Order: sequence, then structure tokens, then C-alpha cells
Amino acid sequence: MDTVDDLDLLTQRLSPGAMTTDPDLLQSYRQDWSFDPAAGTPVAVVRASTASDVQETLCFADSRSISVVPRGAGTSVVGGSTAIDGAITLSLERMRSIRIDASSRTAIVEPGALTNDVKAAAAKEGLYYPPDPSSFEICSIGGNAATNAGGPCCVKYGVTSDYILGMTVVLADGSIAELGGDRIKDTPGLSLTKLFVGSEGTLGVITELTLRLIPQPPTPHTLVAFFPLMSEAVTAARDITNRTRPSELEILDNAAIKVAEEFLRMELDTDAGALLIGRSDAGNAAEAEMELMRTHCEKRGASAVFVTDDHHEGELFIRPRYAVYEAFEQKGVVIGDDVAVPIDKLPELTDGIADIANRNNTTVVSYTHAADELTHPVLNYPVADEAAAASAAAARREIYDLARALGGTVTTEYGVGQHKRGNLSNALDPVVVKLNRAIKNAVDPNNILNPRVLIP
Ligand SMILES: Cc1cc2nc3c(=O)[nH]c(=O)nc-3n(C[C@H](O)[C@H](O)[C@H](O)COP(=O)(O)OP(=O)(O)OC[C@H]3O[C@@H](n4cnc5c(N)ncnc54)[C@H](O)[C@@H]3O)c2cc1C
Repeated sequence: MDTVDDLDLLTQRLSPGAMTTDPDLLQSYRQDWSFDPAAGTPVAVVRASTASDVQETLCFADSRSISVVPRGAGTSVVGGSTAIDGAITLSLERMRSIRIDASSRTAIVEPGALTNDVKAAAAKEGLYYPPDPSSFEICSIGGNAATNAGGPCCVKYGVTSDYILGMTVVLADGSIAELGGDRIKDTPGLSLTKLFVGSEGTLGVITELTLRLIPQPPTPHTLVAFFPLMSEAVTAARDITNRTRPSELEILDNAAIKVAEEFLRMELDTDAGALLIGRSDAGNAAEAEMELMRTHCEKRGASAVFVTDDHHEGELFIRPRYAVYEAFEQKGVVIGDDVAVPIDKLPELTDGIADIANRNNTTVVSYTHAADELTHPVLNYPVADEAAAASAAAARREIYDLARALGGTVTTEYGVGQHKRGNLSNALDPVVVKLNRAIKNAVDPNNILNPRVLIP
């Protein structure tokens, strides 16, 4: 029996219209937001609408040792959902139901639901789902769980894994595992839910999640402060986080300020070495937190500090942080990356990144989730310019070397994917590498699930 007949067999077992082998459609599932030119072409795309579709696909693939790439919304910037030649891409985009149980403050969601839709459904009940990857309007909650996504508010509220109480996972052989439950304090057996969070589609396919929700916080107060030097902003951020827990604390470097100003025209100080943005959603205590932030910024040499408790003005104050991506998208290819170094090394990192950009004749700006010590270098180059793409790739490698030399890491909130997998064997203890492989082998002995990502 050849592959085409085989795929016909699978089609009959799936919901109508779930599988496609249409070459045009296959093309649109090749790449994710890492835009890898070497992405493969899937032999078929299954757009599951039920857990049974997922089970059938995995049983079929496992029995024939066909690789399967689980895919949410395809916003991975590290090649997590990049297709593999001859593999099946298993998209969860049609599984989008969201049910809020206000009495238990939980959300029961299918993996393809957009994070923004989960947040909105919770908000309708006066509840809050905190994790806020910047891609929240375009990424899926299943993808967030599979990468343990984080974002600006994680400094106060934690990352995705802090909100996952339970999940249903289809394993490579088609069996279904119900992990966790709907209670915070429920710990039978090993902590397997945590193991599957961040497993990037290598251990199983998530078909349902039970999420913890919290009360909607009050409208945040917002502070912006310009500093002549990055080192001053970093010291202020360190002082602030030693005394309080802001709901966001971001720092833009000079290059990022310039890009934001060119795009927004809001009279940002383009001579400043750094722009610090801090927020507090502490209700009655927010005013005091803002004063504390202001004091520390001024003490560390801020040239100008502005504070607002107005919602709309606050949204305007944080615009520069988001404008970087929007501005770059209009100019060409945007590559967001992520590295982390100890907070005291941040100025060396951002200065070093600026130097790397100059030497490689490429554009890189940096913004930092200061309290998490996590920096996003964002690269930009013209579409279809191979030389520029090569310069950007060289700059990225140098940035990784620099982060490591400063005692940091190159795998933080975006995940490992295909792109950073090569860095793991060196970064991890050999015993841990062995453990990773043993766990993978135990749950996916035929190595069909996303075989090119994460596991070293
Ligand atoms: C503009 C932009 C900004 C971003 N900002 C952030 C940010 O602030 N923080 C952050 O953490 N990330 C960020 N990202 C990266 C990306 O959005 C996140 O990694 C997100 O969680 C991926 O979700 P997705 O639905 O697009 O997943 P995909 O890209 O489709 O998949 C990501 C990984 O999850 C696996 N996967 C997806 N769904 C499932 C499932 N149901 N079961 C098992 N495995 C699955 C895939 O196999 C893959 O390994 C950003 C990306 C962009 C483009």
C-alpha cells in the first residue's frame, strides 16, 4: 500500500474535511514565525476538530513511524512548529471552545483557542488569565502551554505553568492521559502536568486545558522614566524589584527608543540611553508603589519621569514597547530572540548587542523584562535579501556567545524549537541530557512527535 492509499485510510477515520493534501495549503503550513527558508513540506495537514481526530492521527502515524508536528497558531519564533518533509502537521486551530466556571475560577479550554479570547472570556466574568506573551492576540493557548509562554506581567503573576491545573494529552500511541485536575492542591503521583508544560509537542498533543483564573486586578498606574545611561536604568530596576513587585517592568535601549519614536512620533527622548516603563496594579497601594518607583528612578539619575493613573494615558505610555515590532514589520523580516543574563550584566549585554549590530551591519534593538532579567534582541532586515539575512544570522550567533560569556542563557521564554536545540547538549549536564532522552523514549518510543525540537 503506498502513502496516498494510506492517507485515504486516515481520512476516512477523521472528521469530514479534517485532512488536506492540497499543495497550496501545505505551503501555508511549512513555516512558522521563524520563517525558516529550509522548512520542510508536510505530506498532509490534519486540522483536528476533536480529540478523536488527534488520536486517529497519532495511531496512524505511530504505526507507520511517520513524524507529526503539532501546531497551534504557528507563532513560534524558534521553529517549534516548522514543518518536516514527509511528516504530518497536526493543527489544533479548529479546537477553540472556551468554558469559564466562575464558581471555581477555572477555564476549560481547547488548545486552539487564542490566548486573547481566553483572556476576554475570563474578563466577562470579572476574572483574569494573567500570562501575556506579546503575541497574545495571535497565538493559541495550547501553544502557550506547550512552550510555557511568559510575558511582561509574569514578573508579578508568573508564567503559563503557574495557571495550568490540568490537561488532557494524547500520547504518541493514541492513548489519552488526564493530567492534574481542577484543584490547586491535588498531587497524586509525579508532577506530570508540569513535565508536559513546555514540552513543545515532543511528549504528547494537548487537547484540553484546565486553567486557574484570578480576580481581575484594578487598572494599573504607569510610570515612564528616561535615563542617560542603560546602567542607571538597570540599577533603578534592581532597586525597585528589591523593594516591591511591579506588574510590569520593562527597559528599552537607545536603538529601540529611536525605532519607536520614528514609528509613533510621540516626542520620546531619542538621546536617552534607556527608557524604563513600570506599572503597578496594586489598587489602593498603586500610588505608593509609583512613588517608590519614581524615587528610585530619580535617585539613579533619571532625566525625566512621568506617572499616570489614567487607563488611556497608561496605554499610550507603554506603546513604545510594542511599537518596535510593528515598526519593523513594515520594513521587512522581523526576528525576535531571547536571552537572559544576571541583572548586573544587562548593560554589558545591551551595549554588546549594539556593538554586534554595528559590526555585522545589521539592525538589532533590545528591550528587557527587567525583573526577569530577560532581554529580547529584535532583528530586522529587508525581505528576500540573502546577504542581510546572513548578517542577521551571524549577529544572532554572536549574541548567544555574548549572553553565555556573561553567565546567561539563550533559551528563556520563546522555547527551544528546532533553532536552539543545538545549544542544549553543551548547556545541560550530561545526566540531564540522558534523563531528557529517557523520558522522551518512554512516552514516544518511535520518536514521531516533533522529533527535531527540544530534546537534545
Ligand atoms: C510578535 C511575537 C511576539 C511574541 N512574544 C512572545 C512573548 O512575549 N512571550 C513568549 O513566551 N512567546 C512569545 N512569542 C512566541 C510565541 O508566540 C509563543 O511561543 C506561543 O506560545 C506559541 O503559540 P502558538 O499557538 O503560535 O504555537 P506554535 O507556534 O504553533 O507551536 C509552538 C510549539 O508548541 C507546540 N504545540 C502547539 N500546540 C500544541 C498542542 N496543542 N499540543 C502539544 N504541542 C503543541 C508546537 O509543536 C511547537 O513546538 C512571540 C511571537 C511573536 C511572533
